[in-house]
Amino acid sequence: MSKENGPMGSSSACCPSKKLPSRDEVEEIKESLALQNNLREVKHKIIVLSGKGGVGKSTVAANIAAALSLKGKKVGLVDVDIHGPSIPKIMGLESSRPATSLDGLEPVQYSPNLAVMSVGFLLRERDDAIIWRAPLKHGLIKQFLAEVNWGKLDYLVVDCPPGTGDEPLSVIQLLEGAEGAVVVTTPQDVSLADVRKSINFCRATNLPVLGVVENMSGFVCPHCANTVDIFKSGGGEKMASEMGVPFLGRIPIDPKMVESGDSGKPFVETFTESETSKAFSLIIEPLLALSCKE
Ligand code: ADP
Repeated sequence: MSKENGPMGSSSACCPSKKLPSRDEVEEIKESLALQNNLREVKHKIIVLSGKGGVGKSTVAANIAAALSLKGKKVGLVDVDIHGPSIPKIMGLESSRPATSLDGLEPVQYSPNLAVMSVGFLLRERDDAIIWRAPLKHGLIKQFLAEVNWGKLDYLVVDCPPGTGDEPLSVIQLLEGAEGAVVVTTPQDVSLADVRKSINFCRATNLPVLGVVENMSGFVCPHCANTVDIFKSGGGEKMASEMGVPFLGRIPIDPKMVESGDSGKPFVETFTESETSKAFSLIIEPLLALSCKE
C-alpha cells in the first residue's frame, strides 16, 4: 500500500482542508463520552440554583431529593458547592466517606432510594477550606458526574453554589440535556434582584427554568397563629410571572426546618404532616410529572 493510500494519507488527500482533531480535542471528546455513558441510566437531571447564599438553596435541594425518594423514586443528590458543602450536614452524613469499587467511586447511600455525593465527604477535616481555581473545580465536578457510580436513577438533583460563577456554568456545560433549573429565592427585593440574574443565566446557557421556589415566605406564629411576613411575601411569584417562568411554590419560615437541618434528617421525612411538607409536595409535582411523560 502506498503511503498516500494509508488511512491518514487518504483522508487528507480527499479533504486537504479538513484538520484532524488535536490531542486535547480527542481527550475532551473521550471525557464527554465517558460522562454521557456514566449518566446513561439517569432519566432526569435537575439543577438547583440561587442568586444569593443563605436563601435555603441546599435545604430546598435536600428536601426535594428526599421528597422524590419518599415517592419511591431513585434519586441522586450531588453537592457541587465546593466552598460551602452543607449537604453532608443536612443529610446527617458528615462522617461518611464514599467507597471505591471497580466501577468508580460509590455515592454514599442515605437510604435505599437516595444516594449522595459531596466534596464534604472528601475533606480530611470538616473545617478544611478548599482554595482552588476554576479548572480544578471544573475537574472535580466532572469527576462527580463521570466517575461516581450513579447507576439507574429517576432523578439526579444537583445543588450548585449561589450565583452565576464557574461551578453552575461547569454543571450546565457538562450536563447536556438537563431537564432544567429550580431557582430558589427569598421574597425580599435584594434577593429577587439576584435571582433575575440566575434566570437570565439559564437563558444565556439554554437551560430551561423548571420554576422558582420562594423560601422563607412568611412565618406563622406558633403562639397566636398570626402570619408575619418577616422577609415580605409573594415577591418570588410576582418576579416569576414578570420573567415568564413557572412558580413552583412557597415555603414558610419554619423553626423546625433549622432543627432538622442541624439534626441531619431532611424536614420532609420528620414532619410529614406539616404545612411545610405539604408545600414541598406541591413543589415536586411538576418534577414527578416529568416521569409521567416518559
Ligand atoms: P443556602 O444553601 O442558600 O446557603 P441553606 O440551605 O444552607 O442556604 O440554609 C441556610 C439556613 O437557613 C439553614 O440554617 C437552614 O436550616 C435555614 N433555612 C432554610 N430554609 C428555611 C425555612 N424555610 N425556614 C427556616 N429556616 C430555614
